[in-house]
Amino acid sequence: MPFAIDPAVVTEEFESAPLRLTIDLGAIADNWRDLAKRSGSARTAGIVKADAYGLGIEDVGQTLYHAGARDFFVALPTEGATLRPYAPEARIFVLAGIWAGQEQIFFDNDLVPVISSEEQLAFWMSVLSERGEHPCALQVDTGFNRLGLRPEDALALAGDVSRPASFAPVLVMSHLACGDDQASPMSHRQLESFRTVSTAYDGIDASLSASSGIFLGPDYHFDLTRPGIALYGGEALNGVANPMRPVVKAEARILMLRDAKAGETVSYGATQTLARDSRLAVVSAGYADGFLRSNSGAGVPLRQAVQQGGTGFVSGTRVPIAGRVTMDMTIFDVTDLPRDAIRAGDYVELFGDNIALDDVARAAGTIGYEILTSLGLRYERAYLEGEI
Ligand SMILES: *Cc1c(COP(=O)(O)O)cnc(C)c1O
Repeated sequence: MPFAIDPAVVTEEFESAPLRLTIDLGAIADNWRDLAKRSGSARTAGIVKADAYGLGIEDVGQTLYHAGARDFFVALPTEGATLRPYAPEARIFVLAGIWAGQEQIFFDNDLVPVISSEEQLAFWMSVLSERGEHPCALQVDTGFNRLGLRPEDALALAGDVSRPASFAPVLVMSHLACGDDQASPMSHRQLESFRTVSTAYDGIDASLSASSGIFLGPDYHFDLTRPGIALYGGEALNGVANPMRPVVKAEARILMLRDAKAGETVSYGATQTLARDSRLAVVSAGYADGFLRSNSGAGVPLRQAVQQGGTGFVSGTRVPIAGRVTMDMTIFDVTDLPRDAIRAGDYVELFGDNIALDDVARAAGTIGYEILTSLGLRYERAYLEGEI
């Protein structure tokens, strides 16, 4: 079925926007194909919960569908309903399961609930007795202690001959707690536990791995892999060079350039004292735009992983954040740039080709996932089509 991808729209609004986000759909498609190759004979889903990690579930969903994804995971049924027109013949799994009052949205949009507790299971059986057969997935908890039936309960269910014929799980799944740490013994323990359960559900698909698990090798792939962050160019593994193509560029405009004297202080709390006469660029992005306050140049007592604050990139140079990030603005120290290199109205890259998303995350003491899902509503967006 042909699906029109919106052409890259670099509008006049985008050209002049105070904050802008460029999302490379071609890079997302490339990353999906790369992960599909790494997944070997397993199929590869697309995880598009939380508005596709803040990047837009419609555009991202359509791109992944076009690239060949036929399995999608969302957190909530409303997200599944938004996705459905863009992924017409795909299976859409809903991780939060199904609750009383949500039957209509599940059946209208042909969504597949992920059943993860005994209560959910009992409710789902009652729904089936009224409506007849409908697919579901079963989640088993193999050590995360988040959602999932205990392995022994999932095994008992597999062997329960009295379960109704309308009960038709199409997938059994679990989730790794430490997949990002290739040295962790936890993944192998979870693998062994999951194997026992998935074997008992012979004949239906099994799925264990998110982005990071794909890199743990074929034992972890089963029938379906579930990458999210790696599709969006983020780091899936700790301490390993990121092989994915970057997807997002965030930029914000310089509202004002100002000169300040040695000994003066910068931003709230006066936490940073200038060591030299300085030139400062006041930029139109702050913590309301996901440019987290913990990224500040100074005065963040809770930040432990990285002592210095974040940076921006402008005129070919990395420039440090001076003082605290505020709600709508961040101040960068541009003293080291030639005076005529930048002007008010220019854009500073917050992350993108020159500053990795995960470098911003580390400076802010968090992970790329949190940066992306905190971007907020103020960025003007352009979607680049590229090679999809
Ligand atoms: C979010 C999520 C994923 C995707 O995780 P990434 O680390 O972003 O690849 C896969 N499976 C489940 C159950 C999830 O909650």
